[in-house]
Amino acid sequence: MDSDAELVQQLLAGGWIRTERVKKAFLAVDRIFFVPEGARISAYEDYPMPIGYGQTISAPSVVAFMLEELDVQDGAKVLELGTGSGYNAALLSHLAGPKGKIVSVDIVPELTELAKNNLKKYGKAKNASLFSGDGSCGYDEEAPYDRIIVTAGMPYIEGHPLIKQLKADGKLIAPVGSRLHQDLILYSRGAYKKALPVMFVPLIGKCGFPRE
Ligand code: SAM
Repeated sequence: MDSDAELVQQLLAGGWIRTERVKKAFLAVDRIFFVPEGARISAYEDYPMPIGYGQTISAPSVVAFMLEELDVQDGAKVLELGTGSGYNAALLSHLAGPKGKIVSVDIVPELTELAKNNLKKYGKAKNASLFSGDGSCGYDEEAPYDRIIVTAGMPYIEGHPLIKQLKADGKLIAPVGSRLHQDLILYSRGAYKKALPVMFVPLIGKCGFPRE
């Protein structure tokens, strides 16, 4: 595929994008700003790509699925764990709008810098604040959140400190399982729903997987 518009068409046809809101966000945020320079030819392909430091930018279909399930409203305060390239942070920024706030944390300081540079090139995510550090237990400093999205695999979610950082009517989506295979779990109002089998890199840290 040669353009963001073509990628969006494919995500619509595959049923990954289901709402006008998420469609508009994907059209507003061009993935080309977030893939490594040498991989730009594949920017609009629906697969994950290496971004350095053993990490990846996720496949657009999985990102779209998570954002549809998360249902980010105008003005929402959102926590993302796993900033990576900054692509998902930019999409969240568009969805939450100027009155919203995105807090995104990555454990690899070089990736926080990379994401900041990518967001600068993209130029429109003024409501996103990026932090470097172990976010595996969340980011209590800015809690509570309307929405929480985890973009690295977690060993567990029931009883995890993240739940306490969510507002009573909030929603959380996270890949939960082993280091290699997880299921996307959607949490809302005390209920956990299994959504889709996925393969994310592990969330490493105090409330995640131990460093190997
Ligand atoms: N959302 C990203 C994007 O749009 O490009 C992709 C995220 S990538 C699949 C997973 C990220 O989780 C990596 O950048 C990794 O460094 C980060 N990560 C792993 N453990 C973490 C932790 N304890 N706290 C914060 N980030 C973590």
